Amino acid sequence: MFRSVLIANRGEIALRVIRACRRLGLRAVAAYSDADAWAPHVCLADAAVRIGPPAPRESYLRIPAILEAARATGAEAVHPGYGFLAENAAFARAVREAGLVWVGPPPEALEAVGDKVNARKLAAKAGVPTVPGVEDISPATPPEALEAAARALGGPVLVKARHGGGGKGMRRVTDPPDLAHAVREASSEAASAFGDGAVYLEKLVDRPRHVEVQILRSRGGETVALGERECSVQRRHQKLIEESPSPAVTPALRKRLEAAAVAVAEAAGYENAGTVEFLIPRDGPAGSFYFIEVNARLQVEHPVTEMVTGVDIVAEQFRIAAGEKLSPAARKPARRGHAIEARITSEDAGAGFLPSTGRIEALRVPGGPFLRWDSGVEVGSDVTYDYDPMLAKLIAWGETREEARLRLLSGLRELTIVGVTTCVPFHLAVLASEEFARGDLDIGFVARPWVAAALRPTRSPEAEAVVTALAHARRSAPNGAAAPSADGRSLWGREALREGLRTP
Ligand code: ADP
Repeated sequence: MFRSVLIANRGEIALRVIRACRRLGLRAVAAYSDADAWAPHVCLADAAVRIGPPAPRESYLRIPAILEAARATGAEAVHPGYGFLAENAAFARAVREAGLVWVGPPPEALEAVGDKVNARKLAAKAGVPTVPGVEDISPATPPEALEAAARALGGPVLVKARHGGGGKGMRRVTDPPDLAHAVREASSEAASAFGDGAVYLEKLVDRPRHVEVQILRSRGGETVALGERECSVQRRHQKLIEESPSPAVTPALRKRLEAAAVAVAEAAGYENAGTVEFLIPRDGPAGSFYFIEVNARLQVEHPVTEMVTGVDIVAEQFRIAAGEKLSPAARKPARRGHAIEARITSEDAGAGFLPSTGRIEALRVPGGPFLRWDSGVEVGSDVTYDYDPMLAKLIAWGETREEARLRLLSGLRELTIVGVTTCVPFHLAVLASEEFARGDLDIGFVARPWVAAALRPTRSPEAEAVVTALAHARRSAPNGAAAPSADGRSLWGREALREGLRTP
């Protein structure tokens, strides 16, 4: 095993990787932009290197700066986290060429599954059903040919970016004559987001469930599937709540989903941790599912799998990258109880999940048994538009789904974040709902009319008052001296904070 790891990421995932390093006795090196000079991942790492200004293109996406940080600190391996350069084959190659260990799938596998049309072909060849689609289209395809393709698929279609991710570059089309315009739009969005405007068509599956299988594959070709996660509660095709197991998956279906995921991983020459994503149609024949894509990285929602299987997925990533065998726990994963994760984003769910920025003035973190708080922020953290709005994740485990649901709900009630608007009110409404409790989920969940209606005004008047008061105190402090602040040193500060942290 290598002895030190450079973490080419920030936020909660950088902390998660640091914790895995600690567990295995590895030295953790943080890389940071100027915006993150005092970020928790920088403070907790064994060493930290500045890689550039806040803009991701000039820091977390700048390959030479990251390689130089590894060289300067004597790091032997690079863990990319998720997002940023995690699925970038050129980065994986550059890491290897610099003589470092890449903690992720080989560049060839990243290329094979990063092209979603190619991934569909691999899946089909491996005998795994894919969503009916048309792959050879482009903005140059004559409109009549596009229309004919849409009619052949029947019903609404989805234009998807071939090299896409994060729900970007997707367009839903109901009327075939609108397709040419949607293809042009999706293609130009994909070109600016991913540097490649290639698109393809899939039949739009009507309100399916999103179910995915976590796999691990060692260099020796040993593959294990760690069960499924259901991630149907989404906005803008991005996940908000994830759970394992899925309330819709029977043991027989699980076996088939796992076998399909393993077949795709093997066909792609995959190595390390990865996720194979499927849609389960609402009205399809019992037990039917379609492959949609492979996520060739550690995923945000990996903790729910960790909590039900007892496998430390990041530690397994390190083992696999070092050429070692999977751990005994991973080879024979437990399957106990149920886990649910809520992503805490700085978004105003009541305003269409509009991102919110600001300084975190106060934070009350929930506690108690079987509750996990994975966070990238603390009091004083500035939330800006430079990075993803996900601040933290709260994950609860229970013997049953209901126990996990109530525990997560209780944790969310304890959680208070003052200074930015978060989606916590959304989670409270959803987790307390009858429909969620019944497991009645699909990817259109967020659009159900009662969800919008249930959203309370997000920033409570009390919290608003605290933010204003703290900002005022900071401004009026004599000679810029430390103002009554989030640590509640002055009586006034304490009272204001108590008010802001009041549990609703
Ligand atoms: P990305 O890589 O951008 O996340 P995915 O292919 O994983 O794109 O799809 C993201 C989400 O979009 C899915 O979870 C699902 O909600 C929706 N989606 C994708 N393909 C389809 C489809 N063919 N029909 C209906 N919804 C889809």
